[in-house]
Amino acid sequence: MAATDYYELLGVSRAATADELKRAYRRLARELHPDTNADPTAEERFKEVGLAYEVLSDPARRRRYDQVGPEGAARGAGGDPFSGFGGATGGGLGDIFDAFFGAGGGGGGPFGGQGRTQPGPPPGADMEMAVQISFEEAVFGVAKEVSLRAPVRCGTCEGSGAKPGTSPVTCRECDGIGQVRRVRQSILGQMVTAGPCPRCGGAGQTVADPCQDCRGEGRRTEERSYTVDIPAGIDQGNTLRLSGRGAAGPRSGPNGDLYVHVRVATHDRFTRDGLDLVHELHLPMTQASLGVHVPFETLDGEEDLVVPSGTQTGRVFRLRGRGVPRVDGRARGDLLVEVVVDTPVELGRDEEELLRRLAALRGEEVAPVDNGLLSRIRSAFK
Ligand code: ZN
Repeated sequence: MAATDYYELLGVSRAATADELKRAYRRLARELHPDTNADPTAEERFKEVGLAYEVLSDPARRRRYDQVGPEGAARGAGGDPFSGFGGATGGGLGDIFDAFFGAGGGGGGPFGGQGRTQPGPPPGADMEMAVQISFEEAVFGVAKEVSLRAPVRCGTCEGSGAKPGTSPVTCRECDGIGQVRRVRQSILGQMVTAGPCPRCGGAGQTVADPCQDCRGEGRRTEERSYTVDIPAGIDQGNTLRLSGRGAAGPRSGPNGDLYVHVRVATHDRFTRDGLDLVHELHLPMTQASLGVHVPFETLDGEEDLVVPSGTQTGRVFRLRGRGVPRVDGRARGDLLVEVVVDTPVELGRDEEELLRRLAALRGEEVAPVDNGLLSRIRSAFK
């Protein structure tokens, strides 16, 4: 690499802040990008500026650079061939493509989804699974054992993909960057595409003597079990993201995430309305009219529900704090008991007589006594 000073390359002082570095880098990157700059030397400078920014934007590597110059800050310098990989490097080539294409931009593109902003081994895939829990488990939370088959880091080579005793070497094709950039002509003009280096698959390193247990991939698929802590208050259709519990990346690339879709069984007595639980309480006409104490089973245990006399259909009794906790645990909904008064049906002769007497006492006109056949014929034509 050229012995040019990284700070000079970016045109900033040695005391530049992270923000100043980023601004200087973005300005230069736009200026030098092959799309906008026809100068044949621009592409080389573009790369140098990218490397300078990659080093200086990482506090640890910047410190090493300040102390011992570019050699000290080079990736993989000294000891562990993977030091400096995996999350330590900010900015880098990904940054500029975000600047040009917009971060994300739908799956499938060179930076679809998360948008890669770091050189090094590509991350493992995100994975997803569904877990079924009971209604009560959703309300009170549960630790659920789940298992899935997913790529995990190979224990034999510790993820390097190299046969134990050997080490991976810097990839010749991408010079350890892990990505290659291609400029091609299209009907829309020049298009710049970038993607993982085909030679090293984005790892920046290649393996001469592959690990036999993982065929050089640094990972192998195994069945794993986890305990997923499902928080109280989770709702049907909610998804938990377990960071780093997805597939291991090839060659020690970072793990993807695991998305757990939560399915909640229905309850035979309660439905859920946000944080509130709703129960439809059927009361016979007599209890609704005369009042009653009902032992009422909440999810927290039995409570005495006082139904006052003269209760109408549609009346709602609110049992405070007997609903669903908010997932952050800072609040809890109520249990709403909604009354439905049931009309007495299939009356015995005595019952009918009593009701007719009641109607007469209250001066309420009712249909004449059912004399059997005629009424049945009439109701058939309703
Ligand atoms: Zn291996």
